[in-house]
This record gives sequence, structure tokens and C-alpha cells, in this order.
Amino acid sequence: MLDQLKKNLSAVRERINAAAQRAGREPESVRLVGVTKYVDAATTALLVEAGCTILGENRPQSLWEKSSELNDPQIEWHLIGHLQRNKVKRTIEVATLIHSVDSLRLLNAIQMSGSELNKTVRVLLEVNVSGEASKHGFAPEGLFAAIEQAGSLSHLQVEGLMCMAGLDGNADDARREFDTLRVLSEQHQANCPANVQMNELSMGMSGDYEIAIESGATLVRVGSALFAEIE
Ligand SMILES: *Cc1c(COP(=O)(O)O)cnc(C)c1O
Repeated sequence: MLDQLKKNLSAVRERINAAAQRAGREPESVRLVGVTKYVDAATTALLVEAGCTILGENRPQSLWEKSSELNDPQIEWHLIGHLQRNKVKRTIEVATLIHSVDSLRLLNAIQMSGSELNKTVRVLLEVNVSGEASKHGFAPEGLFAAIEQAGSLSHLQVEGLMCMAGLDGNADDARREFDTLRVLSEQHQANCPANVQMNELSMGMSGDYEIAIESGATLVRVGSALFAEIE
């Protein structure tokens, strides 16, 4: 299984590098977040052994459980899915980056727990670029208020934006949505408060990460492509 994981990982990294080159970008400007929500802790440990050390989980509970089971300091854990306010405290104890901050109330809850733990929490603001009702995230028009709010919070560091492409869109739709996120980040860049930066764009999954990289992604969240051909 380790061999298969190494093979999958190097195939994904090659495609990341090729997409970056096509876009005239440095391959090092794109980081791979290995999404481990499909597999148990043992298989996750093998993925780390294969060389993938930034891991993403979409459920807070799974992130807590796996990070404590693996207890490996070389792993950087990212939360990529919806975070309920009552789960903030435990999550910020283990997560290096929360990709999925999707409401003003959550921003405030993170500030409160961050302050209790004396910790500055690194986050991305999730934007609902496809406009699908089932999707979390700030509406593009709501981003200004979110950034302003974040600017008033002492234990928060916003590093950029995150989105998911629409569920039933094609490649063109995905590209348009990723471009929308990049343009939003460029528009807000100039007027951000001191603790808000627009350095990161988390976008792209197994089916569309190459498109996302061509549109400027700095973090791609890839799950199923890493676990192909694994029983
Ligand atoms: C599951 C998930 C991914 C990875 O999806 P794949 O298509 O398996 O690569 C990326 N981002 C989020 C938020 C997810 O929940």
C-alpha cells in the first residue's frame, strides 16, 4: 500500500508542477493538502511516510481523533470543512490553518477561544463563489464586512480565501469560479487591515486542482486522487 501511495503522490505532484509551469508559476508556490477523510489513521500514517505532511480533514472530530492517534509533529493539520462554534477550542489546539471560516459568528468564536488559549489563529475566509444554497461561505458581497470584522480581532490572522467549485459544474464553470476567487482576493488586497493578508488561495480538489493552479491556487486540497487503487 505504501508503494501505491508513493506512486499516487508523485503522480499528483507531477501534475501540480506541470500545471504551475503552464501558468508561468513556481511549482513551490503551490502546496498540496492531502485530504485524509476517506481513510483510517493507519493509512493516513502511510501517506505521511510517503511524503505528504500537510493533511486536511473536513470534520473537526476526525481531525482531533487522527491528530491525537498519529501524534506526529511533522504533520501540519488543516481543517477544510465546516466548523461549529462549540468545536472551535479543541480544533484550534491542533489545527495549523482553518480553511473554512464561513460566518461572522464563527470569526468571533475563534477570537474568544484564541484569546483564552493565548493563541493567534490562522484562518482563510471561505467564499461561496458558485452561489449554491447548499454551500457554506460568505457571499462575495459579504467579504468586505468579514474582512473588516476580522481586522478588529486580536487573536486572528487571515491569510487568504478558500472556495469549492460548484457540484455539477464543468471545467469551464470551475475555472470561472476559481478566477472569481482570485479577482476577489486581488480587489481586497489593497485595503486589508494589518492582520488580514491575501496571500493564500485554497481551491481545487482531485477533479479540478490543475485548473485551480492555473487560476492561482496556492493550496490544493486533494483526497481521492491520492487514494486511487487502494483497497
Ligand atoms: C473531501 C474534500 C476535498 C477533497 O476532495 P477529492 O475530490 O476527494 O480530492 C477537498 N476539499 C474539501 C472541503 C473536502 O471536503
